Amino acid sequence: MTKWVYNFGFKKAEGNASMREKLGGKGANLAEMDNLGIAVPPGFTITTEVCNYYYKNNKSLPPSLEDEVMNSIRNITESLGCVFGEEGNPLLVSVRSGGRASMPGMMDTVLNLGLNDKTVISLAEKSQDERFAFDSYRRFIQMYSDVVLSISHEEFESIIEDEKLKLGLVLDTDLSSKNWKDITVKFKNIVKDQTGKDFPQNPIEQLWGAIRSVFDSWMNQRAITYRKLNDIPDGWGTAVNVQSMVFGNMGDDCCTGVAFTRNPSNGEGSLYGEFLVNAQGEDVVAGIRNPQQLTIKSRKEQISKELSLEELMPVVYDELIAIFKKLELHYTDMQDVEFTVQKKKLWILQTRSGKRTTSAAIRIAVDMVNEKLIDKKTAINRIDAESLEQLLHPTLDPTAEKKVITKGLPASPGAAFGKVVFNSDEAELMALSGEKVLLVRTETSPEDIHGMHAAQGILTARGGMTSHAAVVARGMGRPCVSGASEITIDETQKIFFVGDVKIENHTLITINGSTGEVIIGKIPTVEPELSSYFATLMEWADKTRELQIRTNAETPNDVKVARKFGAEGIGLCRTEHMFFDSDRIISMREMILADTLDERRIALSKLEPHQKNDFVEIFKIMKGFPITIRLLDPPLHEFLPKGDDEIDQLSKSLKLNIKDVKLRISKLSELNPMLGHRGCRLGITYPEIYEMQSRAIFEAAIQVYKDTGSTVDLEIMVPLVFMRKELEIIKSNVDNVAKVIKKSSQFFPNYLVGTMIELPRAALMAGDIAESAEFFSFGTNDLTQTTFGISRDDSARFLGSYLDSEILEGDPFVSLDIDGVGELISIGATRGREKRKNLKLGICGEHGGDPKSIAFCNKIGLNYVSCSPYRIPIAKLAAAQASLNKK
Ligand code: PEP
Ligand code: MG
Repeated sequence: MTKWVYNFGFKKAEGNASMREKLGGKGANLAEMDNLGIAVPPGFTITTEVCNYYYKNNKSLPPSLEDEVMNSIRNITESLGCVFGEEGNPLLVSVRSGGRASMPGMMDTVLNLGLNDKTVISLAEKSQDERFAFDSYRRFIQMYSDVVLSISHEEFESIIEDEKLKLGLVLDTDLSSKNWKDITVKFKNIVKDQTGKDFPQNPIEQLWGAIRSVFDSWMNQRAITYRKLNDIPDGWGTAVNVQSMVFGNMGDDCCTGVAFTRNPSNGEGSLYGEFLVNAQGEDVVAGIRNPQQLTIKSRKEQISKELSLEELMPVVYDELIAIFKKLELHYTDMQDVEFTVQKKKLWILQTRSGKRTTSAAIRIAVDMVNEKLIDKKTAINRIDAESLEQLLHPTLDPTAEKKVITKGLPASPGAAFGKVVFNSDEAELMALSGEKVLLVRTETSPEDIHGMHAAQGILTARGGMTSHAAVVARGMGRPCVSGASEITIDETQKIFFVGDVKIENHTLITINGSTGEVIIGKIPTVEPELSSYFATLMEWADKTRELQIRTNAETPNDVKVARKFGAEGIGLCRTEHMFFDSDRIISMREMILADTLDERRIALSKLEPHQKNDFVEIFKIMKGFPITIRLLDPPLHEFLPKGDDEIDQLSKSLKLNIKDVKLRISKLSELNPMLGHRGCRLGITYPEIYEMQSRAIFEAAIQVYKDTGSTVDLEIMVPLVFMRKELEIIKSNVDNVAKVIKKSSQFFPNYLVGTMIELPRAALMAGDIAESAEFFSFGTNDLTQTTFGISRDDSARFLGSYLDSEILEGDPFVSLDIDGVGELISIGATRGREKRKNLKLGICGEHGGDPKSIAFCNKIGLNYVSCSPYRIPIAKLAAAQASLNKK
């Protein structure tokens, strides 16, 4: 027969910490503490399997549960010498939820269960404190009515407020025993009025009501949402813990508190916590009274006059410290502990692994290795790689209040606030005069680059995680929320709307690029600080990982940032992004709109010096490392002029009338620009473009050699190839440029010519392509787009419903679709290496910075991943974890 109930608190529990799935975190840890000889109030855990049974059987409970529960109650009453529901020495219990994963505050709890009109008198006698007894009884009626009988908490609170008003009192603690007695009667009347029945007096009935309600709370909206946000399956269910009550509010030799065994905010190795004398746990949380500090040290730091636990109850304090040490040693992790002292006797009510900030997590892990509590492997695995993001960008002060008006995609992490501006020129002007601005655009284009640079952050109404705004913002390290589709922008009026909310020009707003939130007003941010603990962790990760970590960067500034974070080369230099500056974009447009070869050559000759000079700078910063330069790949819609101003400006520089310019634009405009005249198709039709670029690359390398004596390791990459022939034509053009320059230069750099694999056909034909390609880099942005047949720029509009209805587990543009796109990468890698054994393989789509995708890249034996500069530490840690956990 299935065992549904597990007892604890009798020095030998029936469960233990390994039974978390069945007993939930709280139940498993209570059992474990009991087995460790730590005093926990006796009780029992009803398993998560009962919760699942409950939902599978139309909210009925297993028939044998009743006997098991009643036996357990008997065990408790016998061991404590008390009775349940009768006068004398009444047993009171708490009934709490406890899932496998912690879901703080999401489910229901009932305390002081077992009180009724008779047992309250016994409790008063036993505690010699009538006020305490009636205060407990009213708390129970209030909580039980809220949780089990669905009577709103406020109904009861207003009675307390009325009573205080009538008596001229301010605090709950000012109410006397008689006052609480009167209030209790009024509380019971509310229950009678609202339910037509008396408040249940029978503790057995109370107990089953509470047990059912805790199971019901597994499916309340709060809990469902929390599970969704934290990837907790509904099928896990919650356990119910029924535990004898101990009281921290029976006088001045009682207290209750919460402690972390180390500081959860910065990771320092000192005790961190608070307690209240003569109080119940909920009082600490509710903040009715200012809690006291545990240690003399923290009391002094807080300049508090209230004595610390160390001073008030030194014996209990020493006991507590010994227990904390025992728990840390046992669990080898920082613990979050709840305790109660009832008449000088210390009870531990709960222990769990403490939640902590990322910087605390790093320090704790490094300290624990030094203390020989854990090994380096455990330390590396203990840090959530994605959470490093918190450290690398300014973040919102977590304690600040905020009014979120809408949510878009968390495109580039970090928090930023500024005055709303709707165009880039204004953004730049205001920034120059010292204003902080936030650029709000329907979508960004290269034209916005100066505005994006000048702005603290970028908010767009359209565009996905790999849209122009997202990619450029990430590269720049600017926070960005993209694809906030509830926003409608009226650029002429300079306002935007989210439903009824109207945001005017220059209104102060904040965006959180880590969550996608758009918030009214200025929310304070906190600057990142990288500690020596962070450096130590990175050093361990570097020694552990197999994958190399490169960066996607094309401006000297980004390349510098990437080097600072330890990038081992450039995996993708998007050359079209080098022409975003206002003085270059015009020539770029001239080149695109050129009608004849001569016109194009003139435009290219204007771009060439910029291109070469940038390469010189970048090569100098990245000297000694491989540098992958991708030949031009401009989706034309990103570069064609939009709006009258841009067309006007272009017509002047092209010396054409506006009508002709418009005509040329309309000839070039495409229905499907992402699948249009881009990538190597452009290099095939206009070979002079790639010729100019090859020349700039080689001449820059020669220049750097002349200036510094350093050589560079060049990888020239051809985009969007679908067949070997394309690559061969372009490779031979590049080689021809090299041959010409070689003739007039004593030094010539080593270079490879390779290709991106970013189309399904290229992945399938990788064997053939590898005959000519000297390296592959998987462009998973386009590969995802073309494998799914979903436009990367438009996906944000409809992928949300796929995610909400769980058709897709995650956004495939963020985390690699291992089954489909991953399979194509595997095929590409295998077929490529079959033809060319030492073919260098990397990934340079946005997935190169995503931990789950990195684990996949490691598994299939890629040489490197390439990601935006600010994700390099994340990629390093994720790569180390991937190596440690490779199956
Ligand atoms: C890709 O497609 O994955 C890629 C890196 O190229 P881009 O994002 O520039 O198209
Ligand atoms: Mg691409």
